[in-house]
This record gives sequence, structure tokens and C-alpha cells, in this order.
Amino acid sequence: MAGIYIHIPFCKKLCSYCDFYHIIAQAENSFYVDTLIKEAGLRREYLGLETVSTIYIGGGTPSVLSPEEIETILEIRKLFKVDENCEITIELNPDDIDRNYLQRLKDSGVNRVSLGIQSWRDSDLKLMNRRHNAAQAATALEQTLKSGFENVTIDLIYGIPGMTTADWSANLDISLSYDIKHLSAYHLSIEPGTVFGKMKEKGILSELDEEESSAQFHLLIEKALSAGFIHYEISNFGKPGYFSIHNSNYWKQVSYLGLGPSAHSFNGYSRQWNVRDVKKYVKAIDSGSLLFEREELDKKTRFNEYIMTSLRTMWGIDLDYVEKKFDKEGYDYVVNLSGKMIDYGLMKQENKTLVLTNQGKMISDNIISGLMLPGDK
Ligand code: SF4
Repeated sequence: MAGIYIHIPFCKKLCSYCDFYHIIAQAENSFYVDTLIKEAGLRREYLGLETVSTIYIGGGTPSVLSPEEIETILEIRKLFKVDENCEITIELNPDDIDRNYLQRLKDSGVNRVSLGIQSWRDSDLKLMNRRHNAAQAATALEQTLKSGFENVTIDLIYGIPGMTTADWSANLDISLSYDIKHLSAYHLSIEPGTVFGKMKEKGILSELDEEESSAQFHLLIEKALSAGFIHYEISNFGKPGYFSIHNSNYWKQVSYLGLGPSAHSFNGYSRQWNVRDVKKYVKAIDSGSLLFEREELDKKTRFNEYIMTSLRTMWGIDLDYVEKKFDKEGYDYVVNLSGKMIDYGLMKQENKTLVLTNQGKMISDNIISGLMLPGDK
């Protein structure tokens, strides 16, 4: 089984925290859809004979495109061997959609919708420079559910400057009052070069303190679990049977093909990423060539990638897999280093699997980095 990721790099407005590759949408961006189809044609051999079980249209903002354009993009299914139950996800911004838009997506085969709600508080949305407000978010979510999409996920952000734990609690209560099947919740991260990053440099914005951040993370876990969700990845919660297959496959080292500028592809032995520039991308594809960089994954890199992705999930590090793929040396390395983390209550061993405790999930980046082979940290 394999996946296809399709990147739509257009946004109507710049969110203050964003460091994804995107450009401000322009009317002439419609030519982009044809280029994506051309790229899919040029790269139809990339996944070999593997069956495609997931397609994910992300961004940027896929919903800046019309339903017809999304329909056209999904014609790439004709180029690959696609499973009849293929999970087809699209990310949508609440203020871009209405019943007609949603119906058209449903008719074209989309069966999973990811709504970028982020917060139910207008003050947070304004601070983050999101286009929508809380009322629009509610309307969009209600319409999505009424349109017959069974598999609906929403994105939320916590740890926003000024957000109290009580505010976050109210955001979670509103979210969980809807019949959503999946929830992705990310702690706001202030990255250099973003609008928030610049505000932080000038001293006019600061991150939430650690204690409040930790309280919000623990509250998230508590509320999501009591609402029947399973915490299957640090930032992801799903009702049974509704985990994101696409993202789970990333964490399980399944091959995927990434289409569009900046999109990454992985085939088990190498990783490659397209040029991070729409104009250069379109020019190259139009002339029948591909513009990308590639990294062959040596044993050490594959080991580190395995640690990095598996430890974020509830499936954890499988010690039998480590021994099989990375020999006794890799096995001993993980077992020795994880001993201390277990003593500190940051990890636990369940049979032959190592997983993070809730305490460990709070500082997962440090733990993962501590378990990786040196030179790639
Ligand atoms: S919509 Fe998404 S990709 Fe676009 S600026 Fe906002 S966070 Fe970034």
C-alpha cells in the first residue's frame, strides 16, 4: 500500500505562525492544476506496483481551488492502481466552503474532510491572522457534518499567547460537542522568520510558560480520552476505526509520492523533495523535467527516522523490528539509552515495545533526539 500527497501552495492571507511553503493566491493559479496532473504522469512509476490506499490534498489551502479543479486533480487516480476504499482527504478552510462546495467534493470521491478550525475564540483567530471567525467555523463544521461526510477531523491550536487553560478547556468542549471522528491539536510553535517569530524578536509576543503549556496538553488528553478518542500520535486523536490512514502510513515508513512544489516523496530507500518555488516547479514540469533534491537513506538515517516517527505513536518502537532491521548493535543502543528514560518515567516498555508516557510526550523532541544515532540530531 502507498500514499499520494498533493500540495496546493496557495493561501489568500498569511497566518502569523505559518512556516509552510505557500504563496498568496492569484487568479492565474488555475494553470497549476494542469501542472500537477503532468507531474503525476511523469512520476507514475515512482510507486512501482504498489496500490495507492490514501490520497491527501493539503496545503497551503486546497479550498482556494474550485470543486471542478479538485475533481480534475483527482483524475490522477486513472494513472495509478488505486484501492477501491482509498482514503481521500482534503484540508478545507472554514470560510471557503458551503453546502454546494461540499457536495461537489463528495461526488468527486473525497471521503475525509479536515477543517482548519484552530480556535473557537475570535481573539485567537484574529491574533493568528486567520481568515475566518468562530461563527464561520461553526457553520462550516455543521455543514460538513450535514453533507454526509462521516469521517471529519478538525485542527486546533493550543498554547496560543494569552490563552488560559480555561479558554482551552472551553475550546475542547465546543469541539467535542460535535460528531467529529478525529482531532489534531498542535501546540503553537513560534518559528523564526514567521510574523510571530518577528514579534517575538521585538519582545512584543512571548510563548506561553511551560506550566500552562503542560496543563493544556494534559487537559487535551484527558478530555479527548473521556470523549472516546484514542491518543494514537502525539498530536492526533481518533475514534476507533478513524485514525488517519495517510498520516499513520508516514509514521509506519510506507512509501508515498508527493506532488507539487516542496512536496516530499519516500520509497523506503530514498527521500526526495520538489523545488520550493511554484514558478520554477511549473517551468520544469512544463518542459517535461523534474526539479528536486534527493537523499539516499543510509542505515543510520533509516534508524533515526524510525526512532523519530515510531516513538511519536502509540505503536512505539518495536524492539523486534529494530533487531531485524538494525542488528544487535541498533537493538542494544536503543535498549541501553531508553533504560534511563524509563527510570525517569518518560518512557515505558510494554512487552517488546517502547512507548512514551504522557510526561514523555511533553518533551518528545528531546527524548527522540536523545535516542537517535549521533550526527543526525
Ligand atoms: S492557511 Fe495554512 S498554509 Fe496558509 S498561511 Fe495559514 S497556516 Fe499557512
